[in-house]
Amino acid sequence: VKNYLAQAKANVHLNAFNEVFEEEALAHAIEIDEKLKAGTAGKLAGMVISIKDNILYKGHKATASSKILDNYTAIYSSTIVERLLAEDAVIIGRCNCDEFAMGASNESSYYGPVKNHADESRVPGGSSGGSAVSVQAGMCHAAIGTDTGGSVRQPASFCNAIGFKPTYGRISRHGIIAYASSFDQVGTITNSIEDAALLLEIMAGKDAFDSTLIQAEVPAYSTELKAETAPKKIAYLREALERPGLDPQIKDALLKSIEDLKAAGHTVEPVSFEYLDYVVPTYYILTMAEASSNLARYDGVHYGYRSPKATDLMSTYKLSRSEGFGVEVKRRIMLGTFILSAGYYDAYYTKAQKMRRLIREKTEEILDNCDFILTPTAPEPAYKLGREEKDPVVAYLADIFTVQASLSGMPAISLPVKVEKDALPFGLQLVAKRFAEQELLNFSKTFL
Ligand code: GLN
Repeated sequence: VKNYLAQAKANVHLNAFNEVFEEEALAHAIEIDEKLKAGTAGKLAGMVISIKDNILYKGHKATASSKILDNYTAIYSSTIVERLLAEDAVIIGRCNCDEFAMGASNESSYYGPVKNHADESRVPGGSSGGSAVSVQAGMCHAAIGTDTGGSVRQPASFCNAIGFKPTYGRISRHGIIAYASSFDQVGTITNSIEDAALLLEIMAGKDAFDSTLIQAEVPAYSTELKAETAPKKIAYLREALERPGLDPQIKDALLKSIEDLKAAGHTVEPVSFEYLDYVVPTYYILTMAEASSNLARYDGVHYGYRSPKATDLMSTYKLSRSEGFGVEVKRRIMLGTFILSAGYYDAYYTKAQKMRRLIREKTEEILDNCDFILTPTAPEPAYKLGREEKDPVVAYLADIFTVQASLSGMPAISLPVKVEKDALPFGLQLVAKRFAEQELLNFSKTFL
C-alpha cells in the first residue's frame, strides 16, 4: 500500500485520482495483515484496487467527476464494493473519469483531464481514463471501471492494460451511478488475465437489487482459468479491416495476429457485418435517451449541487442543472430529450431500438458460427489532449469497434499488443458469446 501511495504521490500531475484514501488504506492494510497472520484473510487480501468515481462506497464521496455531485457522499455501498471488501481488497482511492462516464478521452471531467503515462501530452482514453492510468503508472494493482460503450476497453487499449467488460447482467449495477442503464456494466482494468478472472468471480452474481442480473451460479473463473490451446474459430469483420481511418499500425497488428492465430492452428475467417456504419448512431441515440431520463434526478433538491442563486422551484431546477452539468452532459441530455419527445420518438428512439435488435441478432448469428470476433479496440492509439473538444462527433465515431458488444450485451476484452519500445500502446478486442466469459478469458491467455 505504501508503495502504491508513493507512486500516486509521485504521479499526482497525471490527475488519475479524484481522491486517494491514504490513511484509510494504510489502516486497512494493517487489519488485513493481522487476518493473514491468523489465516482468515479473504481471496483478495493484499490486492490494492482503485475504483472509478461513479461507484458508490459508503461514507466516501462519489462525484461521477461532475460539479453537480461535487459534495455528494454515498450513503450506501455498491454491491461490488461490498464484495471486494468482503474478500479483503484495499480500496486506495476513487479515480477521475469523464463526467457521468460520457466521453472517450477523460476530458469532460469537472476535475480536469487525465494525462497518459506513456506520453503526457496525450489522453488516457475514457471514460475510465483515471482508472486506466492508475494501473498504467503503478498506483494500484487493478482498477474497477464501468463500460457503457467501451469505457474500460478503450482506455485499457490507450494505456497498455487489459480491459474486460463482462456480459450485460453478469455484475450488479446496484450503487453504480447510472448513465445508460441498458448498457452500463462494471469492468476491470488489470495487468493480467488472472486478476481479471479473480475480480470477475468475486464481483459477479445475483444480488437483491439489480433486476437485470442473471440468476445463474457464478463459475469459478479463476480456478478454471487455463491457456486454451484447442483450435478455435475466430471471425474478423471485413468492414472493420477496410475502415478508412484505421491506423496502419493497428491494421498491421490485426493482420499479423490473424496470421499468428492461423499458424497456431485456429481457423480465422472474414465475415460481413453490414451494420458497422449504424452501430455508432444507434448507440448514441439510445444512450442519450437513457441518459436524459437517468439524469433527471439531479434537480438541485435530491442530490448534490444546488445553485445559490435559486429563489423558487423552477429556478432551483434550471440554475442548479445549468451550473452543475458540463457541456458534454448537457449536449446529451438535450439530444436525449429531443429523441424521446412526442413527434420524434418513433423516428429516432423506436427506430434505434429496432436497429439494436438487428445488430444483436447479426452479432449472435456471427457468434453461432465461431467462438470469437476479433477487431481493433479503437481505430487509433492515444491522441493529443485537446483534440476532441473541437469536434465531439470525431470522438463518437471512434467508438465504432467497442459499441457492437455493448449494443448486443456480449462480453469483450481489449488485449494489449506488443509494440516497439517508445511506441504508443494499443489493443485488439475479442468479443464472445453471452456468458462465455470463461472461454474468453482462457483464450485471452493464449492470445496475449
Ligand atoms: N465513449 C462512449 C460514450 O461516450 C462510451 C462511454 C462509456 O462506456 N461510459 O458514450
